[in-house]
Amino acid sequence: MTVESAVGIRTVNHWIGGKLAPSRSGRSGVVYNPATGEAAASVDFASAAEVDEAVAVAVEAFAAWRASALSRRAECMFKLRDLVDQNRRRIAELATLEHGKTVADALGEVGRGLENLEFACGIPNLLKGGYSEQASRGVDVYQIRQPLGVVAGITPFNFPAMVPLWMFPNAIACGNAFILKPSEKDPSVSLLLADLVRQAGVPDGVFNVVQGDKVAVDRLLEHPDVKAVSFVGSTPVARAIYERATRNSKRVQALGGAKNHMLVLPDADLEMAADAAVSAAFGSAGERCMAISVVLAVGAVADPLIEAIRERMSRIRVGPGMEEGNEMGPLITREHRDRVASFLEAAPREGAEVVVDGREAPAAKHSGFFLGASLLDNVKPGMRCYEEEIFGPVLGVVRVNSYADALRLINDNPYGNGTAIFTRDGGAARRFQFDVEVGMVGVNVPVPVPVSYYSFGGWKASLFGDLHMYGPEGVQFYTRAKLVTSRWPDPGTSKVDLGFPQVR
Ligand code: NAD
Repeated sequence: MTVESAVGIRTVNHWIGGKLAPSRSGRSGVVYNPATGEAAASVDFASAAEVDEAVAVAVEAFAAWRASALSRRAECMFKLRDLVDQNRRRIAELATLEHGKTVADALGEVGRGLENLEFACGIPNLLKGGYSEQASRGVDVYQIRQPLGVVAGITPFNFPAMVPLWMFPNAIACGNAFILKPSEKDPSVSLLLADLVRQAGVPDGVFNVVQGDKVAVDRLLEHPDVKAVSFVGSTPVARAIYERATRNSKRVQALGGAKNHMLVLPDADLEMAADAAVSAAFGSAGERCMAISVVLAVGAVADPLIEAIRERMSRIRVGPGMEEGNEMGPLITREHRDRVASFLEAAPREGAEVVVDGREAPAAKHSGFFLGASLLDNVKPGMRCYEEEIFGPVLGVVRVNSYADALRLINDNPYGNGTAIFTRDGGAARRFQFDVEVGMVGVNVPVPVPVSYYSFGGWKASLFGDLHMYGPEGVQFYTRAKLVTSRWPDPGTSKVDLGFPQVR
């Protein structure tokens, strides 16, 4: 489907200054319905000049917004929280239409996004600083946290609701103005969220959306009035964005890709481990940055675990995400489906065994971008299916002899987003938590996405920047500290003193 042949279908515009803003750039892209393979919409691609317009509107709105009372900002967050709650299903169905995930899964993503709004409702408390009375005689010292100005968020296709909600509630509650650049693959949810932000009473211009591709992103990274950039996406793009934005003196948190290992020790509850591996590998068709893509099976646990996983996989219902009862939807695009399938093609040549081949699943014959759940055994380092992030429904099993061998593999991996250990041994779990070089660790929990009052972030090539996303570190990211040292006139103590100020 070309852009031209998509003309006549719905167009996804920008949202600037509290209203829809059709693009004048003349550039656009096609948004597909992955369940049918048909075009669902056309999305505007912003020009650099349109990004500049959005930034100018945000700069203007920021001046009044940063001066608004904390209680007013909290009130907006409470209202937005209720509006998102009331519109859960609408948001989820729109995400399903353009992303393909099941509605149940999309409802889960909205729920996790809501947690971030609930966290931001506490903004008056979160922005409280410290105060030291009498730091010196007659001198008080206190710290305040102030917003940065206009901040930008660039988000991936796989969580069109949740990842923007990781960013903008804290950003605007802290008093910033926000520009969202959503994924061009599933952009419509951003406009629904924008309308809810408006209904919640957030002033026009505080929250804006520019649709588009690299052109829009590049301008956001260059614009002198954009003070900070939050990015979530693949590692090569995250690294490039981090380097470019820091070169331009911006604050950056750039979350990248992943290759998450699940370690199963011989004493693990086998049924629990198999349930967890299947849920975490094939939920959202493996298109989650916290998906499990490798199981490290220690010793004799491998054969029974593979059998238990295979048995569960045979029962996964694959089909359109809109149809009740389906558990796994299609992949995001035809190109991505073909890329994921190419790992199944290459695996036997590299010495791995294809235990379950998703290309043979009935759904894979549909016109949508489907691929069935797939399982590879005897995966080894050096194979393409081990080295690369697949981001699809392909689970690889690596057989290892010991905990030490498994740990070495995890720690040698360039990514460090999530990992999990399955065991009944508290000592082994505690040792793993101490040893493993990964940012988010699950103990008998396969997808350890932190709750909103902690912060989300991987290590190594899974995050570029110092601060993790959302939660307390999100508030820190979207504010800068100002230290005030104050003395009030007291005629009794005032005198000229040219010495360096000391604490007395
Ligand atoms: P992507 O990197 O292709 O795109 C992410 C965003 O960057 C999109 O808005 C896109 O328009 C923009 N973009 C793409 N190429 C660009 C370029 N060359 N220059 C500037 N901007 C560009 O990622 P995706 O395919 O949308 O999402 C999947 C990836 O995101 C996976 O690698 C996944 O692991 C990762 N991800 C990571 C996390 C995390 O928290 N670490 C969460 C979700 C997804």
